[in-house]
Amino acid sequence: MAFDLNKLLRPHILQLKPYSSARDEYSGKEGVFLDANENPFGSITKDDHNRYPDPYQQALKSKISEIKGVSSDQIFLGNGSDEAIDLLMRAFCRPGKDNIIILPPTYGMYEVSADVNDIATKRVNLTSDFQLKPDAILDEVDENTKIIFICSPNNPSGNKVNRQDIIKVIEGFDGLIVVDEAYIDFSDEPSFTTELSNYSNLLVMQTFSKAWGLASLRLGMAFASIEIIKILNKIKPPYNISGLTQETVLAAISDTSRMTKMVDEIMAERVYLQEAFEKMDLIKKIHPTHANFLLVEVPAAKRTYDYLIENQIIVRDRSKVTLCEECLRISVGTREENDRLIQALVHCPVDLTIA
Ligand SMILES: *Cc1c(COP(=O)(O)O)cnc(C)c1O
Repeated sequence: MAFDLNKLLRPHILQLKPYSSARDEYSGKEGVFLDANENPFGSITKDDHNRYPDPYQQALKSKISEIKGVSSDQIFLGNGSDEAIDLLMRAFCRPGKDNIIILPPTYGMYEVSADVNDIATKRVNLTSDFQLKPDAILDEVDENTKIIFICSPNNPSGNKVNRQDIIKVIEGFDGLIVVDEAYIDFSDEPSFTTELSNYSNLLVMQTFSKAWGLASLRLGMAFASIEIIKILNKIKPPYNISGLTQETVLAAISDTSRMTKMVDEIMAERVYLQEAFEKMDLIKKIHPTHANFLLVEVPAAKRTYDYLIENQIIVRDRSKVTLCEECLRISVGTREENDRLIQALVHCPVDLTIA
């Protein structure tokens, strides 16, 4: 298969002249800065935030580059993974013409972002054990299919997707393949970033929202060829990552041990929940997980969800989602939180154990 980035891109994106910010035009650090209409006196906050941040987050990227083993010019940082998803739609998909392929049950943002951009979404369901059907996916591709989104470990099912199947789709498609690895840190699976040198049509997404515990800061990563990253940089809002986020994350990630410790704890709590669920008649099925949540099947998902809400325990009702009938998605909590959930389920009314 021949991947031709320039052919895949929307033509006007190739021609586009990007916004040139003050920090693009002068990137030195010393001097009297009268070029960006900033407030010279400081900020109304205790700490100063009056200067525009580095538009390309170079210090942060070089740290991430060390941690992830991907060179800085192959990293894009977005205001959450959502921003990268949206930028990809806008770079590659012509509204009203092109389409993407998603593999339900999967993360909802791919389709919402396509809808916002007036891009059609084609669906190829996963198998009953939430694996890919590579041939069916490739059969669904038409001349206007631009992106295929694969989520592994998958949300909401939690399982990792077979590597060979992903490779088969990457090799069989001459558009862009996005492998969303938001939950990779909870898995024993190596990242697809190691495949970037083999496949120019691959983009891998990760996030600081889950394992790193930084959901509120909004920082998502995309790893891809230098050419694809250049396109994302060209069309992104100039200062898409706040200075506060850049500084906070840079200062914190030098020490990965706290992250590793939290991940270990979450994985131990995941086992604790699994073992408790196995003993419950209420839980009909615990789907295998490589993420920080569990998808479980109960006789009556909606009623169980409502009962938990009454007890001020909030889980996600996924029972309306493809292949997730009567399923609840439960994030792994602290020991105390997990015990509250377990106690509530153990003492649930009998009618919840009946469909
Ligand atoms: C949580 C999650 C993300 C993270 O999104 P952010 O915008 O970075 O917070 C991405 N993909 C999937 C599948 C997720 O579940």
